[in-house]
Amino acid sequence: MSKRNYSSFFSFLVFVFTVFQSSAQKKSKIADESNLRVTPKLVVGIVVDQMRYDYLTRFYKDFGDEGFKRMVEEGFNCKNNHFNYAPTSTGPGHTSVYTGTTPATHGIIGNNWYDKEQDIDVYCASDESYSSVGTATDAGKMSPHRMMSTTITDELRLHTQFRGKTIAIALKDRGAVLPGGHTANAAYWFHGADEGKWISSSYYMKALPKWVNDFNSSGAAQSYKKPWNTLRDIATYTESGTDNNTYEGLFETETTPTFPHSIPNLLDKTRDFELIKATPYGNSITTDFAIEALKNENLGKDDITDFLAISFSSTDYVGHKYGVNSKEIQDTYLRLDEDLARLFKALDKNVGEGEYTLFLTADHGAIEVPSYLKDVKIPAGHVDYDTTKAKFSEFLKYKYGTEDIVKNFSNLQFFLDHKIIKNLDLNLKDVQEEIAKEFLGYDYVDRVYTGYQMWQYQYTSGIPYILQNGYSQKRSGDVLLVLKPGTISYPMTGSTHGSPQVYDTHTPLLFYGKGIKKGNTVERTEIPDIAPTVAALLGISFPSGTTGKPIAAVLQ
Ligand code: ZN
Ligand code: ZN
Ligand code: ZN
Repeated sequence: MSKRNYSSFFSFLVFVFTVFQSSAQKKSKIADESNLRVTPKLVVGIVVDQMRYDYLTRFYKDFGDEGFKRMVEEGFNCKNNHFNYAPTSTGPGHTSVYTGTTPATHGIIGNNWYDKEQDIDVYCASDESYSSVGTATDAGKMSPHRMMSTTITDELRLHTQFRGKTIAIALKDRGAVLPGGHTANAAYWFHGADEGKWISSSYYMKALPKWVNDFNSSGAAQSYKKPWNTLRDIATYTESGTDNNTYEGLFETETTPTFPHSIPNLLDKTRDFELIKATPYGNSITTDFAIEALKNENLGKDDITDFLAISFSSTDYVGHKYGVNSKEIQDTYLRLDEDLARLFKALDKNVGEGEYTLFLTADHGAIEVPSYLKDVKIPAGHVDYDTTKAKFSEFLKYKYGTEDIVKNFSNLQFFLDHKIIKNLDLNLKDVQEEIAKEFLGYDYVDRVYTGYQMWQYQYTSGIPYILQNGYSQKRSGDVLLVLKPGTISYPMTGSTHGSPQVYDTHTPLLFYGKGIKKGNTVERTEIPDIAPTVAALLGISFPSGTTGKPIAAVLQ
């Protein structure tokens, strides 16, 4: 090697080294960013209304590979996930998933509640100051104004300077309005009745976009007015009870609760689309509409993360009518599994495999039908409200000389008239305690708590912890009742929810996709952990009222 060659070889080495070094520096910069956060093109939040955790395990062998199984086997399964507050109902459920906190903080204390300041009953999502979009009825007069904290969807909108889009979709208005947060680009829900259309509120828009009008006039809803038979041979449905039994409710003109449910024959001429909601086809039309939203709103098409919030409501209607152990529930979940597979395929195609992050959970669980539990020797029962009412009004008249001291009873809470109590020169704390003690003597009541206890003490475990998380000082009542496990107030057939018991709190929580580890845990996780987990993944602010914490095991 000549001297000149040697020196040019040396400068070549220097050059190579410099190039290598600068590319290494660049690489480490990119690596730093990916340590900081993950930026999926789209986050999809899925809430399955009334889904118990054990539906995942009971029906697992019958699921296909591309729906629930894809999430469980390639994603992360939190097996011991719970609601940490009561009442466990739809409005509070959806709100808690998206706000990372509980009714004590976000203020959605029920689907409906008694507003003690205004002395009226209110609905969690209604708002008379807005008008309906897409229908002449009042079904669109909705907004999230009663929700007092921000949602994960709000925080993403703020973080992206409103460049990331949020679209929220559900058959039920509250299943879309609350997850969408205060800043959603749009929330859509299904107005069944005699219209069968997806509608919205002037809170979001002046008129429905063209793609929504096109969907509404496509005849999609009409196409689901078809008989409901089992997806597969009913003889293979070995994970549920008999089809014909006394635990199940009936569609109005049916005489037995059995397949096939001849939907076209059951249609009411004035509300002929309403029935779709109470069949698995309600979940199918939700999937159809969500896929149209994905395409037409260009969700997940650029590097700024968008959010699609979907809630499947039909599972709840079917559960209320037929119950946890019915063939109808089994069929509804097998069909939902196919709808999920269809949704995931559309996400792969439109957003790209590995480019999106999903979570799936529920808004509450459900109880086995109490009369079924009784028949298999498990303690259960129903509240006899008529006897209760008579006995309680006797007590009030004897004790205080008037029944007017109680203003309202809702969500198992009594609201007392503080003015009358003052006028009678009584002490509020004493009255709360006396009424609580009276109810403890009623057979179906397991425990009682007072508003005073909820204000004064800080509970950290068990039923009082769950009640306190559901207790808003501004909005909740004076006396709280907890029914015995297995006891409900209504209905006589089908399942329900609302209690602090485990059957109402234990729900699935699955994560899947970009930034998510493969695995599972039996460590307890709670519903308010979902929003901060997503916030930690995206590197954005936690919702304003967050009380949950990120589930570290889920994140890569
Ligand atoms: Zn629900
Ligand atoms: Zn049946
Ligand atoms: Zn329900």
